[in-house]
Amino acid sequence: MTVAIVGAGVAGLAASIYLKRSGQDVHVFERAPTLEAIGSGIMLQPSGMAVLKDLGLLDECLRKGAPLKGVLGTSPLSGRVILDTRYEHWKPGAHGLGIHRSILLKVLYEEAKRCGVRFRFGVEVSDFSSASKVKLSVTERALTPHTTAAVMEVLSDDQIGADEYDALILASGRSSTLQYKAPIHHRSSPYKWGALWATLELPESLNEPVLRQWYNQSHQMFGILPIGESVNSTKRLCSLFWSRPVESDSSLFGVDGTLESWKQKVRALVGTVADPLLEQLQSEDQFALATYTDIEMPAWHYDRVLAIGDCAHSMSPQLGQGANMGLVDARAIAQAVGKSSAVHWPAIFSKYSEWRREHLGYYQSASRHLTPLFQSSSSITPLIRDMALLAAQHVGFVRKHAATTLIGGRTGWILSNESQVPLHFWDGTAP
Ligand SMILES: Cc1cc2nc3c(=O)[nH]c(=O)nc-3n(C[C@H](O)[C@H](O)[C@H](O)COP(=O)(O)OP(=O)(O)OC[C@H]3O[C@@H](n4cnc5c(N)ncnc54)[C@H](O)[C@@H]3O)c2cc1C
Repeated sequence: MTVAIVGAGVAGLAASIYLKRSGQDVHVFERAPTLEAIGSGIMLQPSGMAVLKDLGLLDECLRKGAPLKGVLGTSPLSGRVILDTRYEHWKPGAHGLGIHRSILLKVLYEEAKRCGVRFRFGVEVSDFSSASKVKLSVTERALTPHTTAAVMEVLSDDQIGADEYDALILASGRSSTLQYKAPIHHRSSPYKWGALWATLELPESLNEPVLRQWYNQSHQMFGILPIGESVNSTKRLCSLFWSRPVESDSSLFGVDGTLESWKQKVRALVGTVADPLLEQLQSEDQFALATYTDIEMPAWHYDRVLAIGDCAHSMSPQLGQGANMGLVDARAIAQAVGKSSAVHWPAIFSKYSEWRREHLGYYQSASRHLTPLFQSSSSITPLIRDMALLAAQHVGFVRKHAATTLIGGRTGWILSNESQVPLHFWDGTAP
C-alpha cells in the first residue's frame, strides 16, 4: 500500500514513521525547500513524550531538551504566584520537556529516513481527488528558506511521486486549506491575540526547570521557557514570549512602540530579573510574531483522506498541547491500522476519528475557553482568574484537574477517562 503524507511537521513525520513501520510505502511531500523549524521552543507533555518513547526517540529528545517541573505564573494584582501547576500533582517524578522545534523535527526526520520513508521537498500539493484511489496535484515551488528559521540541511530528496495513492494524510499545518477540499464541515477562526517570540541564551540566574510566566491582568504576559539546545547551537537556550494583540496597523511593539519602550514594559511587569534576557535583545529582527487559529472539524476523515495535526485541530498554544496532539494523532493512526494485512483505509480513518473525538474535543474546548483568561483586554476575567487560581492551589481535586489537563491526558471537563489506555496510547506512567 502506498500512502502520501502532505507536510513534514511534527504530525506528518511521526505518522510517516508509524506507517512505514506498519509496512506501508510512505511518500512525504513538503513545500518548504528544506526541513525548517520556524518558531523556537515548544513544551512537550507526558502524552507527547509517551509517543516519542513508543517510537524509541525520547532519550535523544531528553538529552537535548530541558526537563520541566511545571508552570508558575505571577500576577502583580496579588504579587504572588497564582498559577502553580506541577507534573508531580499528577504523578510523583513526572515531568515535561522544553525542546527546540529544530531538535524535535530533526530527531523525527532522521528516524523517518532510517526506516525508509521517502521525501520530496520544495513541492506544494495544491489539490487531490479521492475515489477508489487518491490522486494528487503537485506544484514545484521555488522557495527560499524562512529567514528566521533554524534551517537543517536536507539529507536527501527522493523525487518521489506515484500516480495514485491508497490513502492520503494531510498534516499540512494550520495555514493549510487543503483539508477543506474534502467535504467536511469546518470552522476556522483566528485568535485576536498572538505573541512575540525570541530564542535567547538561558542566563544562569533564570535557569529554573519551569515555564515561568508573569501577567498583568490579561493584556500583558511575559514568559520564559527553557528549551535546551538547537540544531545550530549546543548552548542552553530559552524561548521568551510576550503576548500581543494581532493588529495589522501597528509596529511589532504596539502603536508607537519601540524595542526600548517594550523593555520598559517588561521591567515594570517582571522587575530586573529579566535584564539578562533583555540585554541580549538588540534588534527587532530577533523577534518573530506568532498568530494562532482555532480549527474545528466534527470528523477528520473523508473516504481515503485523513487530516491530522494543526490542519485538523489547530488551537492556541496557551495549554502547550498542539505538537503533543499531533504526536498522539500519529500513534492513533498506527493503532487503527493495527497488524491487519488487509488495510481498508476508509474504515481505519473512520475508527481514528471516533477514537480521537473526546480527547481532541476537550483540548479544543479548554483552549478556546481558557486562552481569553490569559490573553484579552478584559479587566474582569483576570480578576476572577486570579482569585480562582489562588483558591485552587489549596484544593486537591482542582490541582489534579489542572495537572491532568497540562499533561495532555484529559478527555472531559468533569469526567475524564484518562485511565483508559487505548484512547491516548499513554500508559499513565511517568516517562
Ligand atoms: C508560538 C507557538 C508556540 C507553541 N508552543 C507549543 C507548545 O509549547 N507545545 C505544543 O505542543 N505545541 C505548541 N505549539 C503548537 C505546535 O507548534 C503545533 O501544534 C505543531 O507544530 C503542529 O504540527 P503540524 O505537523 O500539525 O504542522 P506544522 O508544524 O505547521 O507542519 C506542517 C507542514 O506542512 C507543510 N505544508 C503546508 N501546506 C502544504 C502543501 N500544500 N504542500 C506541501 N507541504 C505543505 C508546511 O510547510 C509545514 O512544514 C506552538 C505554536 C506556536 C505558533
